[in-house]
Amino acid sequence: MQDIVGNLHLHTIASDGTGTYDEVASAAARAGLDFIMYTDHNTWTDGVEGWYYDPDTGRDILRLMGQEVNDPNLEPEHNHLLCHFVSSDLNGVAADPQKLIDTAMARGGLCFLAHPLERPGYDRASQIYPWLSWEVAGYTGIELWNAMSDTKWNLRTFPRALLGAYLPQRGLSAPFPEALAKWDELLATGQKVVAIGNSDAHAMSFSWGPLTRTVYPYEHLFRAVNTHLLLADSLAFEVDQARLQIYNALQLGHCFVSYDLIVSPKGFTFTGRSGSEQAIMGDTLSLQSEAVLRVASPYPARLRLLKDGQLLMETTGQELEWQTVEPGVYRVEAYRQFWGQQRGWVFTNPIYVVKQ
Ligand SMILES: [Zn+2]
Ligand SMILES: [Zn+2]
Repeated sequence: MQDIVGNLHLHTIASDGTGTYDEVASAAARAGLDFIMYTDHNTWTDGVEGWYYDPDTGRDILRLMGQEVNDPNLEPEHNHLLCHFVSSDLNGVAADPQKLIDTAMARGGLCFLAHPLERPGYDRASQIYPWLSWEVAGYTGIELWNAMSDTKWNLRTFPRALLGAYLPQRGLSAPFPEALAKWDELLATGQKVVAIGNSDAHAMSFSWGPLTRTVYPYEHLFRAVNTHLLLADSLAFEVDQARLQIYNALQLGHCFVSYDLIVSPKGFTFTGRSGSEQAIMGDTLSLQSEAVLRVASPYPARLRLLKDGQLLMETTGQELEWQTVEPGVYRVEAYRQFWGQQRGWVFTNPIYVVKQ
């Protein structure tokens, strides 16, 4: 499998970000990303999609266009929806979350509930924008780890904010436990719910008296929380083909969420086998007497295997193996020590083990 890494939630000057399309793409190329998806608020721009050559690094990066849609008439503006692969305006249906999801999906898109659970931060960041309309159905998945939500919480007092502005490595911990619990709760209903992780990069500046600081510039954020996609073949040079590869990997949940700044998790695998059947993360595996689940990590980590939200096994190392005769939703979390604490490193999509 090919492991490509990208960011699926970020903002430019087309909404409330601070970088142009090209500046953001260059920052992503410097950070080593393979693709980015622009998701400005309630806006769509034609003609940006395609390969972008970054002259500084000599790297090509694939740019795709999505949007983050919400109802601007709500106060506060909760229910943010990431709509990927939808090349048209969705503002007309933004006020009705179910209609918005149905419309985006009917137009060949994918939908992810953005920063579905948030915690208040410091000062201007005290406002939260969670997902509240949990009665909706038919969406692709959720944004399990949003770097901006996590940072906002980690920098929730003035001393923390000041320290975090100069030591950004301290700004990220892991997906919120309540986000992991909510994901498990949704998975328990029998639906497939794909998890992604993103920067939600804006690269805003803050001033403290004489000090002005761009808190979390784009390049830093693109080295942080990302989504790795597993592809059967290398990403095609032909744009429509590459776009379809990314669409398929996301739709199938052939992906994992990571905090790349700790160390690159490229090559991390979670696979299953039962009789002649094989599965990777996101797949359904039919149980034929028993199944073997395997985790292989490029670096040692605290590996945790969960079934239906409950911890089954925990080990520190590069491998984990588990035999089971039980159907269930199996997923893996990996943590590593970084800047003085255990931080989330890898969160895989589940393997759905079902009775034959
Ligand atoms: Zn948002
Ligand atoms: Zn956003």
